[in-house]
Amino acid sequence: MADRPNHMDPEEFRQAGYQAVDWVADYMARLGDLPVMADVEPGHIRGKLPAEPPTRGEDFADVLADLDRVILPGLTHWQAPGMYGYFPANTSGPAALGELISASLGAHGAMWTTGPSVTELEQHMLDWLVTALGLPEAFRGNGVITDGASSSTLCAILAARAKAGGNEKLDQMVAYTSDQAHYSIAKGLRVAGIADSRIRPIATTPDYAMRADHLAYEIVKDRNDGLIPFFVGTTVGTTSTTAIDPIPELAWVASNFDAWIHVDAAFAGTAALCPEMRFLNAGLEDVDSYLFNPHKWMLTNLDCSVFYVADRADLLNAMAVEAEYLSEGTAATSTTDSEHETVDYRDWTVALGRRFRALKLWFVIRHYGTEGLRAHVRRHIAWASDLANWVEADDRFELVAPQVLSLVCFRHTDGDEAGRRIMDTVNRSGRAFMSHTTLDGRFILRVAIGSPQTERHHIEELWNLIQSAA
Ligand code: PLP
Repeated sequence: MADRPNHMDPEEFRQAGYQAVDWVADYMARLGDLPVMADVEPGHIRGKLPAEPPTRGEDFADVLADLDRVILPGLTHWQAPGMYGYFPANTSGPAALGELISASLGAHGAMWTTGPSVTELEQHMLDWLVTALGLPEAFRGNGVITDGASSSTLCAILAARAKAGGNEKLDQMVAYTSDQAHYSIAKGLRVAGIADSRIRPIATTPDYAMRADHLAYEIVKDRNDGLIPFFVGTTVGTTSTTAIDPIPELAWVASNFDAWIHVDAAFAGTAALCPEMRFLNAGLEDVDSYLFNPHKWMLTNLDCSVFYVADRADLLNAMAVEAEYLSEGTAATSTTDSEHETVDYRDWTVALGRRFRALKLWFVIRHYGTEGLRAHVRRHIAWASDLANWVEADDRFELVAPQVLSLVCFRHTDGDEAGRRIMDTVNRSGRAFMSHTTLDGRFILRVAIGSPQTERHHIEELWNLIQSAA
């Protein structure tokens, strides 16, 4: 029986690390040739794994070899050039290396004292992003990284609930959102204890954006009934079509009734890196909270969602809990009003243990520079515009929503069955993968351009596939 754990010493780590990096570089090189969508039956992967864990440590080379044998066949390749499904989940070389180092450091950012660099780099990256994206100055110093848009939205809801009176007033609280919002808003409300019957669906325009007049109507009705309109969940870049809710008008309505207004720009937010796309930020100076996901379109691998509040007081009211065993060493070093402000991020979100996510953001932003990140976004939007033009010029198809970002939504004029057939043919080709949505009960094809490996000729190839399947 081994009496010592099988730790890698630094030299062993170096050698294993070289092998791992070689594997990744080879994977990147062959991504364009792998079938985009996993083609395995449920249980296929587990069938290749031993029923019990090894009792003795194995050679790293053997573990690595099993990546090809066991894991690769069951992967849908999100970084493949032909990946157009859902929204992108970008990664990149610098992000992967940042993640490697973050994992190796095993640093912990619960509080400033548990890792000053972890906290301060996070604060600084989020301030860099305020500048890079042209976000309101009120967000500066008020950002935090979470594991996803769903968590960011939950934090916004909990802050709004605290502001509106907390648990005691819970059964009077009412929230407002549209049927185009991501389900994470409804889920967050449910987690926060808001009954489904207290979520008002707000009507949308023919372009699927939330209607401010209908929001005002519903809020007034609820106020007259003695209820507390406490949260308005809006979206810039909805999941189905990238519709943009009219934030200035919605914020005006919400603020008149003292309701918290939250903006989910999970996918679209990255586009505001480009000055010509800053219309996406209209009205943000009047909102209470905002999120976007670098882990979607900004070349930073899962997980990394950026969450800002205009005023952190309500967020801290909702999240900060005293714990004596965590207080040691913080009293003297943690301050909220000096020139060099420190924060304890455990008080900003649900999690206590916090990874060093800012490191990969730092690597990404320094590697690409804001100009490089803009080029990444601009290429995708330009190609989406080309694809939208081709769709429009073909009588067999119709665009069903404006193409504003890198998403193109369209349908076959023969109806839903034709659309399903096209999606199926494209996805089975191995060359590309696309997903769908439904709008007004109709089946809609979605092409979300966003992989770092995609080039314009890949979009031409996709269009050829779609046309031949039509
Ligand atoms: N909000 C919008 C608009 C989205 O499109 C998505 C996912 O696609 C989400 C929220 C959920 O994101 P996450 O997976 O980071 O929770």
